Amino acid sequence: MSYTLIVADVRQGVFGEANLDSLGIASLLGKEVYLVVPEGAYEMNEKMADAVVKVKAAEEVFLNPLNMGNILEQVFGAHGKPGHLVFCHSSSGAESAAYAAGLFGFPVITDVSGYDRERGVFLKSYYSDKIFGEFKAAGDGPCVITVRSGSFRESVLEKSFTARVEAIENVEIAAGRTFIEYVEEEKSDIDITKAEFLLSVGRGVGNQDEIPSYEELAGTLKAVLSGSRPVIDKLWLPKARQVGTSGKTVKPKVYLAMGISGAFQHIAGMKDSDCIIAVNKDAEAPIFQYAHYGIVADIHKVRDKLKEIAKA
Ligand SMILES: Cc1cc2nc3c(=O)[nH]c(=O)nc-3n(C[C@H](O)[C@H](O)[C@H](O)COP(=O)(O)OP(=O)(O)OC[C@H]3O[C@@H](n4cnc5c(N)ncnc54)[C@H](O)[C@@H]3O)c2cc1C
Repeated sequence: MSYTLIVADVRQGVFGEANLDSLGIASLLGKEVYLVVPEGAYEMNEKMADAVVKVKAAEEVFLNPLNMGNILEQVFGAHGKPGHLVFCHSSSGAESAAYAAGLFGFPVITDVSGYDRERGVFLKSYYSDKIFGEFKAAGDGPCVITVRSGSFRESVLEKSFTARVEAIENVEIAAGRTFIEYVEEEKSDIDITKAEFLLSVGRGVGNQDEIPSYEELAGTLKAVLSGSRPVIDKLWLPKARQVGTSGKTVKPKVYLAMGISGAFQHIAGMKDSDCIIAVNKDAEAPIFQYAHYGIVADIHKVRDKLKEIAKA
């Protein structure tokens, strides 16, 4: 009987919540669910899978796709190939998924965020959920999928019995690539996701010398200074201050965007703010489509005017 095989995503001993999305889509696929985890990093309710394969290896072994290939070969040897092979859409999950697809000749569908059960079709979101693509693997053979975090965790079905436990004793450790260490994300004194008022500056600010005057304005307005990606890439503000798809998602009461054009990667990170005010010298800038209030003007003039008003 065909089954769904999930490769767990474990970091520093923690079986993260993203795994619930893999378990959720596996519940929707309706086959037996097998979960492969590094031994010792298993902290889940054993009622979420039908079988758990514990691999006697450190979790870092799972971060190398070549080792993963060896682990999967052993599971396939014991149980045959699965209908679906599921990874989290994390950087290591996506890497292993691509490698496994190449190694075993399976089709791969990445970053899946929805599933139409009736038609057996996977959904992928584009442009911040503006449109969805529908995907189905060609043929009836196994298919690899990577699952977007947060998409399926509500679908997890708890079984009425405890999972069977199996073990893989020996994993062939591939040469040529060694795990060195986990590097912690740069800590910031300020969490922009908690701010009620964000003053966000974009490339339109012009140059680094202008940043202190916007810091000062933010202080005057009791706001926190954040930025679009070019401002962070140029190191004018720390990474923790970036708003957008590759930065933070924010929902402040007020989002004042100065010199930001409104690329969708930025909009995705701030569109749910209660009140969006945009200042841009280009009346056609896309940000105005999302702003509740818009000012077509030079941002530096608006900055000076706001400081003047605040002083008065
Ligand atoms: C994979 C990927 C991930 C990304 N992630 C993010 C992300 O997380 N966050 C993000 O922000 N971007 C992200 N981007 C980049 C994104 O596509 C845009 O390039 C970026 O948002 C543009 O930043 P900006 O609006 O500051 O700059 P620009 O697009 O260059 O816009 C500058 C704006 O300032 C205006 N301006 C210039 N001078 C003045 C002035 N004196 N007064 C008034 N207005 C002025 C201009 O009219 C223009 O509209 C990502 C891109 C990719 C490919």
